[in-house]
Amino acid sequence: MEDLTWHATDRKVNIGVLSHPTDSPAWAAIDDKYPDFASEPRNLRLGISADGVDVNRGNRSHSVWPILTIIYNLPPWLCMKRKFIMLSLLISGTPGNDIDVFLTPFIDDMQLLFDIGVEKYDAYTQEQFKLREVVLWIINDYPALGTLSGCPYSGFQGCVLCGEETHCIRLPKSKK
Ligand SMILES: [Zn+2]
Repeated sequence: MEDLTWHATDRKVNIGVLSHPTDSPAWAAIDDKYPDFASEPRNLRLGISADGVDVNRGNRSHSVWPILTIIYNLPPWLCMKRKFIMLSLLISGTPGNDIDVFLTPFIDDMQLLFDIGVEKYDAYTQEQFKLREVVLWIINDYPALGTLSGCPYSGFQGCVLCGEETHCIRLPKSKK
């Protein structure tokens, strides 16, 4: 728990230098918009990595989708260590549009942890407190973003911003 508050207590701020997610506009936006959330430095600020991985080289039928959760409260020397990166979900195969079905329970948990939180015991300060969390970023490449947004880049609605309004043509020779 001590390490979770590192960003608010022990960090040396270098004005104008981006050295930790705490320096990012996204972090400041959460502080601005949700001051009650920001007032508890133990509240988690998460990054979620969601992308497919080939477990059998070159064979997409043997891919898996590990959904990894990263806690950005931690100092940089712990944040990206394997021990502190959580495997929140492991989807077998290429889920395509069905990814919603797999992600729904995970997103419901995330929503509950943001809206209400859970009672936790802090062994460092020896007190009960309410732990909440917020998702700052989701990390993926463009094809994975398409799958997550229901806008596969190989289809007619390949732009995640325009969605159904995407201007598109089919190339006659390649059929793309
Ligand atoms: Zn667009």
